[in-house]
Amino acid sequence: GAARPVAYLDNLNPEQKDAILTLDGPLLVLAGAGTGKTRVLTTRIAHILATGRAYPSQILAVTFTNKAAREMKERIGKLVGSAVEGMPWLGTFHTIGVKLLRRHAEMVGLRSDFTILDTDDQIRLMKQLIQAEGIDEKRWPARQLASLIDGWKNKGLGPKDIPEGDARYFGNGRGRELYTAYQDRLKVLNAVDFGDLLLEALRLLREHPDVLADYHRRFRYILVDEYQDTNVVQYMWLRLLAQGSKNICCVGDDDQSIYGWRGAEVDNILRFEKDFPGAKVVRLERNYRSTAHILGAASHLIAHNEARLGKTLFTDAVDPDADKVRVAAAWDSEEEARAIGDEIERLQRHGSNLNEIAILVRASFQMREFEDRFVTLGVPYRVIGGPRFYERQEIRDALAYFRIVSQPADDLAFERIVNTPRRGIGGATVQMLHAYGRANSVPLTDAVHNLLQTEELRGKARTSLTGLMASIERWRNQLDALSHTELAKMILDESGYTEMWQNDRSAEAPGRLENLKELIRSMQDFESMTGFLEHISLVMDRDADDSAEAVSIMTLHSAKGLEFETVFLPGWEEGLFPHQRALDESGRAGLEEERRLAYVGVTRAKKRANIWFASNRRIHGSWQSSIPSRFLDELPEAHVEVVEQGSSYGGYSRSNYGAYGASRFDSQATFGGSSYNTPGWKRAAKTQAFGDGSWSQGTGSGRTPSGVKMIEGELIAR
Ligand code: ATP
Ligand code: MG
Repeated sequence: GAARPVAYLDNLNPEQKDAILTLDGPLLVLAGAGTGKTRVLTTRIAHILATGRAYPSQILAVTFTNKAAREMKERIGKLVGSAVEGMPWLGTFHTIGVKLLRRHAEMVGLRSDFTILDTDDQIRLMKQLIQAEGIDEKRWPARQLASLIDGWKNKGLGPKDIPEGDARYFGNGRGRELYTAYQDRLKVLNAVDFGDLLLEALRLLREHPDVLADYHRRFRYILVDEYQDTNVVQYMWLRLLAQGSKNICCVGDDDQSIYGWRGAEVDNILRFEKDFPGAKVVRLERNYRSTAHILGAASHLIAHNEARLGKTLFTDAVDPDADKVRVAAAWDSEEEARAIGDEIERLQRHGSNLNEIAILVRASFQMREFEDRFVTLGVPYRVIGGPRFYERQEIRDALAYFRIVSQPADDLAFERIVNTPRRGIGGATVQMLHAYGRANSVPLTDAVHNLLQTEELRGKARTSLTGLMASIERWRNQLDALSHTELAKMILDESGYTEMWQNDRSAEAPGRLENLKELIRSMQDFESMTGFLEHISLVMDRDADDSAEAVSIMTLHSAKGLEFETVFLPGWEEGLFPHQRALDESGRAGLEEERRLAYVGVTRAKKRANIWFASNRRIHGSWQSSIPSRFLDELPEAHVEVVEQGSSYGGYSRSNYGAYGASRFDSQATFGGSSYNTPGWKRAAKTQAFGDGSWSQGTGSGRTPSGVKMIEGELIAR
């Protein structure tokens, strides 16, 4: 029926209303950040329910994260009350995939109580298969196979769809074979991996027209948020399901497509009108989130991208007192963390709610400095979308090595590292050590020592344990001879732990190596290994209290769709942001995706966006100067204020940049005469970039980055 004027439609602008009231047929809402896309989706659902167009169970609504799904549910609840309770099909692609598969498990060769493997299980399984095939695991590591298969699954390709014996693929053309074997094995185990949640659900719908027809009848309305980041298999799913009612509404922003590296295809947006004939496109141009300065800065920045549809954005929030986007320099990342910590305390004193403050980093290793600083200051924080720095797998492993060296009785540490990297010490051996330890009331390392005197330990386990014990002994003897950072590095190198990740060709391995380097860097702030480990136990001891007010720390990738009054954006330096690996691997396209990430970052802010860069990074114990990010040069001066740091921050004010490159100041003229009016950071960039030739050579070894696949805890997100 015709829409009655109702309260939830108040205050919406005409385009938003149009998008909400156009219920029949395909609809694409294409609009920039903060224009109310998510709000349109929520209100649209409320409207469908309030007008009795569909039952809650007849609406399929897809969000990007589980968190977003919860928030959406809450918001709908506020509009329509308890009706929202009956919405079983509101969630991420993955949660909806699980639901589909549980209902029809037997149709894809599973039982409904199938298990969902986590990444570790997945890798272990692949290792077995690789070994069984007699493939050299050093050359063809399991993690590489995992990311290959993951990529295929994201593209909607089953084992049968892969060209046979394609030599480019794993194990000299045996990728497809292993993929088949892996899928067969999963079926035997009654298990699926994350990729299957999408791929098998697609297969189900494709191969069972009766099931598909059933869902065609069921889903009267389909709604999708963050559409620009759907991948091929998700897209195929949606297209298939939307053939029923044809009432599909997708909202997205091509400028916020940031998951290309994980298989997302921004082309899905461009294809929408072609694939859904008769589609209506609504554009929203008014931004309700940010101040004019923030919007102006973000719009100007993203305009440097070529591959974009182009959009207009404006705001009515013209407040003459609004802060400009602030750009500030720190001497190094430690000072950056200190200054941001001070600023947050200042905001708090002036009444800011910590929940309205976020720090958005490009790579997960950057979190360490902030976490340490907040612990020192006693400022509560939470890490969103992934583990806290010291809780990451590679950090825990490394810490376990350090602990067992300084504290021989630390059984937990010993157990963690005894077979990491793999040395052929199996569960049975570890159990035997435990049994001995318990029976004789001695720690595991003593158990090993004593058992090595007997014949009970044999074969590979015996050799490996002998080697490991000798290493631990040797490292322990260096505790006083070497500095603790040197020793730490030595331990990670000699144990084969660093090498394990170096040989790992998965997307997250470079980020883990970067985190390990950051760990060692962080140790320089302490006098001894013991001092450092004490600090760690204090940091680790903090309980995460989700209800309390806290600053949020997260990667830019995890920040999508969120908003905060104040946003801090540290680390805007060439190589880190834009990220070197994105540039190396994807060239211009990589740069543009980095720029979209910057756009996402700046547009999270409602009132204040503070961008920082460090002039120096400490890499392998030596200082190297860094170049401020090119994105800083792309910000419009009208909306930006370059903050002159006072002496409280060590006096690295603009004049210091002059001093920094003063002797080479003349050479600057060669590279662009008009630099006298440029803000300080630009001048700094030039003097550093051209005055100090060490940048390109200097960063070679330190250019690590990555952390590209840093959304560990968020795998269930789409
Ligand atoms: P993003 O691209 O970052 O996901 P979005 O387009 O989804 O942004 P929303 O999060 O829906 O934008 O809205 C941004 C902010 O503007 C929210 O706080 C929302 O409540 C507010 N907002 C949206 N529309 C209106 C409106 N018509 N009147 C007042 N506030 C609005
Ligand atoms: Mg949104």
